[in-house]
Amino acid sequence: MELMTKPTILTGVRSNEEPTLGNFLGAFVPMVEMQKKYAGEYQINMFVPDLHSFTTPIDHTTLYKNTLKNLKYFIAAGLDINHPDVFVYRQSYIPAHSELTWILDCFTYTGEMSRMTQFKEKSGEHSESVTMGLFNYPVLMAADILLYNAKYVPVGEDQFQHLEITRDIATRFNNKFGEIFTIPADTKTQTGFIERDKGLRIRSLTDPSKKMSKSSNDEKSKILLSDTPEQAVKKIMSATTDSIGEINFDFETQPGISSLLQILSLLTGRTQEEVNAEWVGKTQYGEFKRAVADAVGTFLTDFQARLASISDEQLIAILEHSERRMAETANATLLRAQQAVGLRPKVEG
Ligand code: ATP
Ligand code: MG
Repeated sequence: MELMTKPTILTGVRSNEEPTLGNFLGAFVPMVEMQKKYAGEYQINMFVPDLHSFTTPIDHTTLYKNTLKNLKYFIAAGLDINHPDVFVYRQSYIPAHSELTWILDCFTYTGEMSRMTQFKEKSGEHSESVTMGLFNYPVLMAADILLYNAKYVPVGEDQFQHLEITRDIATRFNNKFGEIFTIPADTKTQTGFIERDKGLRIRSLTDPSKKMSKSSNDEKSKILLSDTPEQAVKKIMSATTDSIGEINFDFETQPGISSLLQILSLLTGRTQEEVNAEWVGKTQYGEFKRAVADAVGTFLTDFQARLASISDEQLIAILEHSERRMAETANATLLRAQQAVGLRPKVEG
């Protein structure tokens, strides 16, 4: 019981495309570090928002497999899913998410939803099929948060508006019905609590003025976590650098070389200063790239071995255990909301 009284940090793990080395270093690793730092003092909910996956069209034949793959990536990155404070679960396996969404929908105004910037942007991109799901997804997100009484929801700037609307809906509901929901911290408090994005930006290998992006069509610009070590080595060896002819750590003048120095430091666990002390001033770009390529190859070999060692059965068993626990919390919140709106009798005393 004591477990459930810890404040909750809630975070969703979504990725429909194959993640890159940039995603790994910039998102997976910090999330694992967050878990290591806060588990014990906080409860950590890491869920896969599978119901959110098709607000815009996707390939449904791969959704289920990708949901599991997604979680395996985090486990391979070091997430301790056996920690008693860590709960990994699939949104759609806990029906309370959908049920609470409906109730919240009836206390959410179309006017406020129409103001959501992400809806406006995404409905522009997918103008041929703007679904109710896309319009309604912030309410589902509100349910995701409120069901578990989450205090902290480390999200990027693109989600601030949705977090604020969650607070608005919950406050409105509480004002009408009493203290039903825990109001999550405001975005300012959130960002102060967890520095999610420290601004790390691994560069594109073909155009180092840009960041590496998983959606890029240029295969050579990115290292995918599914690349074979040989493919990755080739991509590093042919990475765009510069004609200066001397290694320097300066993103302004030598973004390609600097990004490689950064990758080398992050993957070998050595500080940037140590790595720079070894390479800065040298002129052999080929030798340097070989060292980076070796580090990337070794990383992928190890990472993929860890990935392969996680069986679907093992993962599903852990998920189901954690889903049973999470359903208890979620159903308790749902019941409070159902009682408030008159769908269930209130138990006196
Ligand atoms: P897309 O091209 O679809 O935008 P992306 O590679 O930029 O894909 P996102 O889904 O936008 O990935 O972001 C997932 C997470 O990965 C975010 O936390 C983001 O900050 C981080 N991230 C993305 N690209 C990089 C990068 N090049 N270096 C470090 N972190 C990154
Ligand atoms: Mg992006």
